[in-house]
Amino acid sequence: MDEEKSEFGYTKKSAWECFSDEQIQEAYSFCEGYKDFLGKVKTEREAIDVISKITEHHNRKTYVNKHASAAIITKGLKPLSEGLRIIISHVDSPRLDLKQIPLFEDSESNLAMFQTHYYGGIKKFQWVTIPLSIHGVVIKKDGSKVTFSLGEDINDPVFFVPDLLPHLSHKIQDNKKLKDAIQGEYLDLAIGTKLDKNSEKNKLKNAILNKLHEEYGLIEEDFISAELEIVPSFKPRDVGFDRSMIGAYGQDDRVCAYTSLKAVLDVENPNYTSIVLFVDKEEIGSEGNTSAQSATFLRSLITEIDPNVDIDKVMLNSKVISADVDAAITPNYTEVFELKNASAIGKGISMSKYTGHGGKYSANDASAEYVGEIRRMLNDHQIPWQTGELGKVDNGGGGTVAKYFSRLGMSVIDVGPPVLCMHAPFEITSKLDVYACYLTYKAFLTQ
Ligand code: MN
Ligand code: MN
Repeated sequence: MDEEKSEFGYTKKSAWECFSDEQIQEAYSFCEGYKDFLGKVKTEREAIDVISKITEHHNRKTYVNKHASAAIITKGLKPLSEGLRIIISHVDSPRLDLKQIPLFEDSESNLAMFQTHYYGGIKKFQWVTIPLSIHGVVIKKDGSKVTFSLGEDINDPVFFVPDLLPHLSHKIQDNKKLKDAIQGEYLDLAIGTKLDKNSEKNKLKNAILNKLHEEYGLIEEDFISAELEIVPSFKPRDVGFDRSMIGAYGQDDRVCAYTSLKAVLDVENPNYTSIVLFVDKEEIGSEGNTSAQSATFLRSLITEIDPNVDIDKVMLNSKVISADVDAAITPNYTEVFELKNASAIGKGISMSKYTGHGGKYSANDASAEYVGEIRRMLNDHQIPWQTGELGKVDNGGGGTVAKYFSRLGMSVIDVGPPVLCMHAPFEITSKLDVYACYLTYKAFLTQ
């Protein structure tokens, strides 16, 4: 029986009902650009590179920090002391990194291999037996740099992590816990089988070393000064008969990077000065000098806008959107969500008042006033939105960069689209949610 709806009650609406037919069409065409971006950008460095190029193409400037984080500043009409509008997204995604001395030969299986160490929270069994590419940079002995992007072109070779056939996995894998079935140290990459006939021993390894030297001028020691990342070689694709979804690697959090980039490039003469920030290392806890925990870059940007301003005053008056994805309610696994407060795909952007886990530990918890302000903005602009949280109480959880900015005295809230299969090699978003995300960030920057 249907619950009788009171005019004072709250019901979540679908983005399909909120948007007009024209807006739905706009959302679909907006996402063509988004898919193109995702196809070009598979690492944090590539993201910063492409973001800089797009920005320069619009005759705007990017401030880049050590190849892995960046910012776009837009001057506003009001004085800087009244605070900034800041949107932060992260451009790193879970993946496998090569170890410093990666190359070895497995003579029993006749395979040359690379040792890896996974980066971020992955479900390891999702990363075996899929086509993978190698991206990144190697600094050679003489200091010169080789840039890699191998496995993206249809004519490029790809790589893979071998897994056991089902006929033989019964004892060693099938009865183990899912998280233990594939060990981290077993996520080695298969890279070749050819032997170097001229070598007495290490024939497999030497064949690879010869090839790497011939093609890239590399020697084995060069891997020590390298950042090589193993990522899915899948292309971004439309998903569903209605093409309403996007499937691609790295949508957490490049969906927010792309939508905030598009938003800031479409904003003219805003009231408040804004900084759109793209940071690195969120997936490993925002550690390091290119991450959200390192506020030095942000301070230097504020000084760049006005060297005489009181930075603490600016920060206390600043308003921030922590632009990151949320967990979408997943079919067959609804029991881990508290359905009233969880976000679902196709219902617009998800706004999380707080993050963290068990007892709101480690959370940013936005004030009622600030949530009210964002809620009014969303309603005024008729943007489809919903509230979200990361699972039932005491059932896990997670954080974003929000807390690192709220501790600087700023008002911060998490706003981003729900994602299905988060951190999997192929993550899923709704085109309407992606578009709602762009509209939200644009509204925020023009407030
Ligand atoms: Mn994220
Ligand atoms: Mn993540």
